[in-house]
Amino acid sequence: MSEDCLFCKIARKEIPADIVFEDDEMVAFRDINPKAPVHILFIPKKHFANLNDMSDEDACIVGRILSRVKDLAEKNDVAESGYRVVVNCNADAGQEVFHLHVHLLGGRSFTWPPG
Ligand code: 5GP
Ligand code: ZN
Repeated sequence: MSEDCLFCKIARKEIPADIVFEDDEMVAFRDINPKAPVHILFIPKKHFANLNDMSDEDACIVGRILSRVKDLAEKNDVAESGYRVVVNCNADAGQEVFHLHVHLLGGRSFTWPPG
């Protein structure tokens, strides 16, 4: 946990969020500024900034996050229509919050390559 980190504060319930899933190692909540009809962020409760700072142990949690992404995609009726999973890392990817998070985006079609 990091004192000043926005997403650590959401994990600690110090800042409100529309939480859609939680267990002992992760929290999933709706993005405050959604870029698609379904836009859910998944965070590990353990603080690390991005994939560059991920340990092998952290990678196991991220793998389990992807299993929950799949579950939430089904629950939000985008599993069949399709969805995009995004992890931004550092400036060129447009990372704004430096606590690793996985975006689940669905409910519309996306272009490729991304902008
Ligand atoms: P990034 O660009 O770092 O990959 O994505 C950060 C995401 O966090 C953005 O989509 C932004 O809308 C979302 N976000 C930023 N602040 C908050 C907040 O306080 N609450 C929630 N629910 N989402 C946030
Ligand atoms: Zn954090």
